Formats: sequence, C-alpha cells, structure tokens
Amino acid sequence: MPKRPSNTFLRAAPANVDPAELARFASLSPIWWDRQGAFKALHDINGLRVGYIDERVGLAGKSVLDIGCGGGILAEAMAALGAAVTGIDAGEEPLTVAKHHAQASGLTVDYRRSTAEEFAAQTPGAFDIVTCMELLEHVPHPSSIVAACARLVKPGGDLFFATLNRNPKSWLFAIIGAEYLLGLVPRGTHSYSRLIRPSELQAWCEGVGLSLRDRCGLHYNPFLKRYFLGGNTHVNYLMHVRRL
Ligand code: SAH
Repeated sequence: MPKRPSNTFLRAAPANVDPAELARFASLSPIWWDRQGAFKALHDINGLRVGYIDERVGLAGKSVLDIGCGGGILAEAMAALGAAVTGIDAGEEPLTVAKHHAQASGLTVDYRRSTAEEFAAQTPGAFDIVTCMELLEHVPHPSSIVAACARLVKPGGDLFFATLNRNPKSWLFAIIGAEYLLGLVPRGTHSYSRLIRPSELQAWCEGVGLSLRDRCGLHYNPFLKRYFLGGNTHVNYLMHVRRL
C-alpha cells in the first residue's frame, strides 16, 4: 500500500491536490533517481528541457521556483547551472528524496512542502523564473496553478510549462505507445481527460497576464531511443510565457 499523504497537510492545503496522484508519486519516490526506473523518461528529457530554459533566458544568477519539483531532477540541474533554486512539492516523500539527493550531490536547493497557490500567497512576485513541468496534468484545476505561477514570478519574469496535449494522436502516442507498448513511463501515469491542449494552456496564461514567447514539441524516436525538441506540439510540449 502506498503511504498516504499526512492529513494535517491536506486539511491545510487548498483543494487543488489529487490525493491519489500524491500517493502514487509517494510510492515511487524511493526509485526517483534510478535512471532506469519509473522516472527514466524525466531523466532522459532533463538535459533537453534545462537546455531549452537556459538558452532562452539564461539560468546563472537567477532566482528560480520549480513547482511540483518531485525528487529534484529538474531543480538540481538548474542549480548546477548557477540558479538559486527553490523547489516546492505537495508530497512529503519526493521532497525527502530531493533533500537527501541534493546534499549528496553537493548542490543547494531550498526545498519546501507547499502548493503553488499556497506559496503564491506567501511570496508573491519573488522569482525571476518559474518552472512547472509534468505537473499540470496531475491536478484537478490546472488553471489555478497557472494563475498562482503568474503571481509568483516577478513582472517581466519568465515561466516554463511542460505537459501533454489532448487529441487522438496524443492518446495513441503518450498513453498507448509510451505506457503500454514501449514502457517509457509506468502504466496509469496519465489519464486522457486531464491532458491539456496548448491552446487551453495559452488561454489560461493570457487570462492572467502572461504572454506567449514560444511553444516547442518534445518527441521520442523509438528507433534511436532518443528524445529531441522541436516541431509540432501534438503530443508532449513545452511552453515559454512571460509576465507582462
Ligand atoms: N516536475 C518534476 C516532477 C514531476 S512529477 C519533473 O518534471 O522532474 C509531479 C510532482 O508533482 C510529484 O512529485 C507530486 O508529488 C507533485 N504534485 C502533485 N500535485 C501537486 C500540487 N497540487 N502541488 C504541488 N505539487 C504537486
């Protein structure tokens, strides 16, 4: 049985958390840094997504908030490039793993247990860059996280989202292909109805004063067994927006 998140936190937290999702990430936490384990895909795409952020806005010397940081795969890589990174996650177990791993890696990341909404109330307008990757498709109200992200970033600051599109092709590639045929991610990781079209994400962003800078596809070549960036956003994609 996966350990359930502690009740005190859930009582205090806003409703935008899915306890079943938290329990699933909690149960997988011990293997977060196993490069061949359940989070292999996050390890494999990490260089690409960190490179994308760094190329577009430069990470060195910036204050960065990573929302839904999990065990810290993205947070650590940004810290290694010279960013002052804060990582927040609603789950206790991924954060415990993240803290131990950063210490072992000799990297400083300020990890805290919180949600985007709660943190936005505490530290509005505090960060040069906000990242929120592979989280929006795991919460009941993703637009509420986007709104909180807009409050967290400084005016003129940059935000990076990564999630999965919702259409027949993404169902075939991201769920049937990645989960059932190729085993790139564990079965049950994504539920189709929670996937998010780029047009939906862009509209939520624009509704809270964030303007689109770029959209970029993230693809997997099953023959080369490699991921690459670019091209269409039919399945996995990244979005860069800026606070006006
Ligand atoms: N962003 C990381 C990890 C993604 S896994 C990466 O891409 O490498 C999703 C993480 O979001 C899990 O650690 C889970 O505990 C966390 N999470 C789920 N719902 C959340 C919420 N509402 N607020 C903050 N974190 C949440």
